[in-house]
Amino acid sequence: KNLQFAPASTCKTTCPYCGVGCGVLVSPEKTGGIKVKADPDHPANLGRLCSKGTALAETIWLDDRLLHPQVNGARASWDDALELVAQRFKGTIAEHGPDSVAFYVSGQLLTEDYYVANKLMKGFIGSANIDTNSRLCMASSVAGHKRAFGTDTVPGQYTDLEQADLVVLTGSNLAWCHPVLYQRIVAAKKANPKMKVVNIDPRRTATSDIADLHLAIAPGGDAALFNRLLVEIHEQGAVDSSFVGQHVDGFDDAVNAASSCDSTVTGLSEADIRAFCNMWIGTEKVVTVYSQGVNQSSAGSDKVNAILNCHLATGRIGQPGMGPFSVTGQPNAMGGREVGGLANMLACHLDLENAEHRSAVKTFWAAPDMPEAAGLKAVDMFNAVAEGRIKAIWIMCTNPVVSMPDADAVKAALEGCDFVVVSDLTADTDTAKLAHVVLPATGWGEKDGTVTNSERCISRQRGFLPAPGEARHDWDIMSDVGRRMGWHDAFDYQSPAEIFREYAVLSGIAGQLGRDFDISGLSDLGDDAYDSLEPLHWPVTAIRAGGRFFGDGRFFTPSGKARMLPIHFRTPQSHPSAQYPFRLNTGRVRDHWHTMTRSAKSSRLSQHLAEPYLEIHPSDATRLGIAPADIVRVTSPQGASLLRALVTDRVHAGQVFAPMHWTAQYASAGRVDTLVAAHTDPVSGQPESKASVVNVEKFQAK
Ligand code: SF4
Repeated sequence: KNLQFAPASTCKTTCPYCGVGCGVLVSPEKTGGIKVKADPDHPANLGRLCSKGTALAETIWLDDRLLHPQVNGARASWDDALELVAQRFKGTIAEHGPDSVAFYVSGQLLTEDYYVANKLMKGFIGSANIDTNSRLCMASSVAGHKRAFGTDTVPGQYTDLEQADLVVLTGSNLAWCHPVLYQRIVAAKKANPKMKVVNIDPRRTATSDIADLHLAIAPGGDAALFNRLLVEIHEQGAVDSSFVGQHVDGFDDAVNAASSCDSTVTGLSEADIRAFCNMWIGTEKVVTVYSQGVNQSSAGSDKVNAILNCHLATGRIGQPGMGPFSVTGQPNAMGGREVGGLANMLACHLDLENAEHRSAVKTFWAAPDMPEAAGLKAVDMFNAVAEGRIKAIWIMCTNPVVSMPDADAVKAALEGCDFVVVSDLTADTDTAKLAHVVLPATGWGEKDGTVTNSERCISRQRGFLPAPGEARHDWDIMSDVGRRMGWHDAFDYQSPAEIFREYAVLSGIAGQLGRDFDISGLSDLGDDAYDSLEPLHWPVTAIRAGGRFFGDGRFFTPSGKARMLPIHFRTPQSHPSAQYPFRLNTGRVRDHWHTMTRSAKSSRLSQHLAEPYLEIHPSDATRLGIAPADIVRVTSPQGASLLRALVTDRVHAGQVFAPMHWTAQYASAGRVDTLVAAHTDPVSGQPESKASVVNVEKFQAK
């Protein structure tokens, strides 16, 4: 490598992987590469890094980077490529209306990129058809938060995990998926002998290693378990009647619904359920962390609200060491939520379907048009592509041909689409290969902007390398297209700092409309101040900076009270049968990220788990004649895959687990999302990626 390190000295930036959002220090090496160290001052990691963060220097690469725009596989000038994009989008809109086009974006984009994408689609094209791969990650948490709190607000912060006496990790393999948070809990547990950890997961994972109690819950059983906890809270007299009386609506209905729920569907013994309930009720300082095992479910929003119900009933929210805590998968899933990067939201936590909010944003943007209804969520968006209702789609910084459920159907949809644009680091992703136009975008280390992590901390990502070839920043590419479509003034941005200031001013309007997201205190940030911005938690207003929400009992609903919801248990939508007898769970491994575009560049990271595999219980393996390391053929109603058998009692009999990362590029037969059914949560639209049904057999080569 011979990287041209731009700053004179060390650059402070943020890890581009998970939602922990660790600070890193990057400096040049004499050999021409870079050195990456943990930032001791960043509040997310305080000097820690995980394996992926430590290997960042090994994943900066230039060899197969896309250096020039391409049209139909041939090199093109930026002028020709962007003119084609603008004219094809304009022509499609003129002929078929604004809802015939769509953007599919990513939690890897920086907040400033996301803001421009959302403004272009919702304010100027006039459609709400912008959705994101974050739909696959945390949409159920967003929906649950909004139903309970009135806004998509994460109440707490990471220090709560250290101040708690009980940390419940449900649907979260924190040790592999948010490793630095796991490290912080391990250290806190060592320092506080009173501290207990409960891990609720159908599998025994690396996270279970620190658990005082591991509950191998039946897939989909979470809502029933937390309903039972609510009943026990009620029956054991643990309700905070004063908090509920003053600050919560819906208590009786929620308890009545919970009382009619059968907790045997959790698959847990009565003794284990009681042990869990007694620990939770008997420990005032309790944090319930939840992640994809809760969110990626056709009942994900209900599961979230079942958890929130328990914290609201006990008033254990927004206080040091207490509260529900949704941890996001991606580095900027939160930033995307804040700028309204979901098809059903507006910027700054304003609601698309609220006429007052719509009008405020329309006026602020001087927008010609604003949609009045939600656009298509991820799964529906690609269905609409397949059906020909979406005729032009622009996919930014993500690889849906691999990451979407029923991935082969997504591939077929894009193959049949009239016009596909992809902006990314490389033209070598499974999705970019299907695009008519591929645009070279800058990546981590080359671009500037902000991200927000799971605890509402805004951090700078800073560029320390020049853009390779003709690559441009995402906000710049989109602004250019916006101008070419005729909206010169609205997209005349010169820098991410300018976009950030506009966004901060809009957030002040949101604050005046009673929204939680308000960073108006940063509206006048000069370019230099933006450049040197230290990590800070929102809100940031003239009178408030950071802190927890809801400890004062004030919520963002019209009544100012939180809402407890009646939750009725629902099973996963796919049902095992004689043809497909196994439940398939999917998830991350420790050392790879998403579809491996970046992490596969590090041979060190690939050594941890080198190929796609299927965890299967020894009794199932024996019955099917499968020996350890055999190749197995996994089939579902959607597709088929070949995986290496990993025979282990970490999964229950009748259940199997496969990691999601490997793409056609790295393991042509080992793609896993092709097996996953595209069932979604009716409220959040989040796909059920953890409860598909499959058959498993030993692979016999012909
Ligand atoms: Fe990066 Fe997440 Fe690891 Fe921190 S925990 S270094 S943000 S991957």
